[in-house]
This record gives sequence, structure tokens and C-alpha cells, in this order.
Amino acid sequence: MKKFLTFLVLFAAFTHLAAAKSALVIVDMQKCFVPGADDLVHSLPVAGGHDIVAGINQLQKKFNLVVATKDWHPKNHGSFASQHSGKNPFEMTILAGLEQMLWPDHCTQGSVGAEFVAALDTEKIAHITRKGTHSDVDSYSGFMDNNKVSKTDLDSFLKSQGVDSIFVVGLAADYCVKATAIDAAHLNYKTFFVQDLTKAVDPSAANMKNIYAELKRHKVEIISSQELLNNKNNL
Ligand SMILES: [Zn+2]
Repeated sequence: MKKFLTFLVLFAAFTHLAAAKSALVIVDMQKCFVPGADDLVHSLPVAGGHDIVAGINQLQKKFNLVVATKDWHPKNHGSFASQHSGKNPFEMTILAGLEQMLWPDHCTQGSVGAEFVAALDTEKIAHITRKGTHSDVDSYSGFMDNNKVSKTDLDSFLKSQGVDSIFVVGLAADYCVKATAIDAAHLNYKTFFVQDLTKAVDPSAANMKNIYAELKRHKVEIISSQELLNNKNNL
């Protein structure tokens, strides 16, 4: 009996250790960030946003743990140009003491635009982190506000699952995916940016080069989904 109990304890420990050390983090795959006919829903479309959904669905099958973030703004969010008289989207302002790009209204809490894109497979998503919920500061990263004052629940959730490596995909490469990856690396996760499963607001070669350089400076590794799919084992 004692041997059996020891076996059970060891089995539980090993299965715990084997489970979910890596996580796939799907950033902001929401209707507001992909192109579509209704400008109010698809208010901040990233060109090619739809093209990465099938690849993200395929990659989810390789992971034991999948989490997602959602941009989730109050209606009066300070990143919206509509909240600043005389300002237009894509102009700069100062928010929470930081340089801030002003955006069209997007991903307001409970809106259709804040829903996941319809083609995204959501069955495996174990946890959704909502970010950008404070009206006076933006939150590109899934982990914390841009001024680094308030953390979301993403880090505590991943730590509770024993995660030490994360793989980041989604929208947009030059804002929320990049910021999520850099914060993950700062929080000591081994972090991978899956370059073919993200699209940038500014996809020019010069901008992509800058993004990759910045990621590398922060010890984020750049990888392709094919490299992950080629690996026989699940992550
Ligand atoms: Zn936003």
C-alpha cells in the first residue's frame, strides 16, 4: 500500500511537471483588429489580420495550455482620439505621462468589436486576460499597463500553471504582441515571438527590422510556426 501511495505521489508530481510548462498566448485576436465591412466593428483593422487565424488554430493543437488576451476598454478610454478635442486618430498625445498614439474607438467592453474573430478556435483557451481597462492609461502588453503601475492577471495565472516558456502570436506585431513578448521576457519567461502568426499596423520592412531588433535586445527569440509544428512533441 505504501509503495502504491508513493507511486501515486510521484505520478502526480511528474504529470504536474510534464503539464503545461509552455503556454501559447494569443494576443487580441478581436474583430476590431481585423478588416471587415462594418467600420464600427472593424474599427482598427490590421491588414492581413484574418490570414493568421488558421495558423493560430493549427498551432493551438501543439500546446497543452492556451491563453488569450483581449483589449477591453471603457467607452471613455484615454487612447481614443474621440476623448481629446481637436485630435484625430493616429496623432500623438501624452497619456499617463507617456507618449501615446491616439486610436479610433476600438474594443469597448462588451461590444461586438471586442469579440474574438469568428474563425478563431476558442475551445482550448483556458484563460482570458482583459487589458486596457483603466481609462487613464493604455495597455499594449497583456501583462501590465504601459506605465507599469498595474499588472493584469496574466502573470499570476501563468505562474499558477507552472509556465516558464511562452509563445506569443496575434495582433498587432508592432504594439500589443511586441509589448507582451518584451514584458514576458522581463518577467523571466523564456519568450518566443512567432513571426508568421502576427501582423503589424506598419508592416514595412524598416519597421519589421526595428521590431525584431528590439525583441532580440530584450532576449525574445524569433521563431516560425513551422519550426514548432515540426517538433514531434507537444509543448
Ligand atoms: Zn486598445
